[in-house]
Amino acid sequence: SYQQVEQMKGVYMPPSITNAYKKPVLLTQGHMQWLYDNDGKRYLDLFGGIVTVSVGHCHPKVNAALKDQLDVLWHTTNLYRHPKIYEYVEQLAAKLPGDLNVVYLVNSGSEANELATLLAKAYTGNLDIISLQTSYHGYTSSLMGLTATQSYRMAIPVPPGFYHAVHPDPFRGAFGGCRDSISQAPGSCSCTGECISTDKYVHQLNELLGNSVPAGRVAAFFAESIQGAGGVVQFPKGYLKKAQELIKKNGGLYVADEVQTGFGRTGDHFWGFETHGVKPDIVTMAKGIGNGFPLAAVVTTKEIAANHAKAAYFNTFGGNPMASTVGKAVLEVIEEEGLQQNSKVVGEYFIRQLMDLQKQHPVIGDVRGQGLMIGVELVEPGTKTPLTTSKVNDIHENIKDNGVLIARGGRFNNVFRIKPPMCITKQDYQSKVLQCEPTKEPIVD
Ligand code: PMP
Repeated sequence: SYQQVEQMKGVYMPPSITNAYKKPVLLTQGHMQWLYDNDGKRYLDLFGGIVTVSVGHCHPKVNAALKDQLDVLWHTTNLYRHPKIYEYVEQLAAKLPGDLNVVYLVNSGSEANELATLLAKAYTGNLDIISLQTSYHGYTSSLMGLTATQSYRMAIPVPPGFYHAVHPDPFRGAFGGCRDSISQAPGSCSCTGECISTDKYVHQLNELLGNSVPAGRVAAFFAESIQGAGGVVQFPKGYLKKAQELIKKNGGLYVADEVQTGFGRTGDHFWGFETHGVKPDIVTMAKGIGNGFPLAAVVTTKEIAANHAKAAYFNTFGGNPMASTVGKAVLEVIEEEGLQQNSKVVGEYFIRQLMDLQKQHPVIGDVRGQGLMIGVELVEPGTKTPLTTSKVNDIHENIKDNGVLIARGGRFNNVFRIKPPMCITKQDYQSKVLQCEPTKEPIVD
């Protein structure tokens, strides 16, 4: 029962694993965009297990592929050849532009970003890494430096060699904010307040390169194409291109962390970086790549991979036949079911509906996003002051009680993040989200 599980959590699970809700849900089944609890109550899943369930819970085609492979072969390691692995890497590489076609298969986003830091250091001969404030790139002892979000970093100093540039946040940026800057060139917006200055952010990155990172020592610049855990923060148009030019000039590589933004989620393109007109040197991917199966990858060029080959590389599980089978089925489903296009159409619809909701509810300070990667930032009405945590908690709990699971994030944990399985439909919004009623009973701790 739910009570037994709660008791066991207290005994066997680390206290750092927190509950999403005051009254947690015990989820026992899933089908496509729906989850079911142990009482049989149905929830619309707008979280997708942290942006991971890309094509749907227990998708029939992915399940069938996995079941077929189950009785054939589970594991070999990448020291042997197995056709499933090679069929998969060929298909995956074809999704990336230009000479990005060497694929390292690993097991998690953290592992992928660890490997990317190593590849960049080996290739450039430099040791310093730059990421952006409020970024999340993983949870390992060295990624405590790459991940800039304070709340995940514990009370330990940033490991040496990691530096954080100011993220140009169009809603609450240090150097002005402007929604239009996401889609329009600087200066052509209609904003009345102080407009965002992309140049100031680029200047700050340049200063960082000149001061904190001694010139010529930067190995890589990491960026999520839209910040995920940071609260669905998009870039002003042009920033990433300028940042890449600057990093390149200083001898570093540009790593696109596509762990959340890849596989069609942003709707317009298969990869988030394509929106910014940049071609990274290294792309890291996880989560949606396996629809919930442990699989991740780093894709780079032959030249960068060749440098890394001065030492042997090996990992036990990366892309074993089971994981490769799932990865291949996921790619095929995205293509066959037009899920990238669905992300675009349904995402735009959700954003429009949420903007209408914003007009009626001044507690919604900002609605933003691209495709099915949407953020709704809650504020004290009429201000940009983040809504207090207890009020956000109550609304979050209320939404869950009404049968919708939604994520939280952002610097002040006041951003609702909508990142559902990409099979979600417009009707789901109509049937579920708009029918949320305030919880009748007070929420008890
Ligand atoms: N990069 C990004 C952008 C992420 O959101 C995450 C996970 N939230 C990671 C990397 C790390 O992935 P994992 O949890 O699979 O290690």
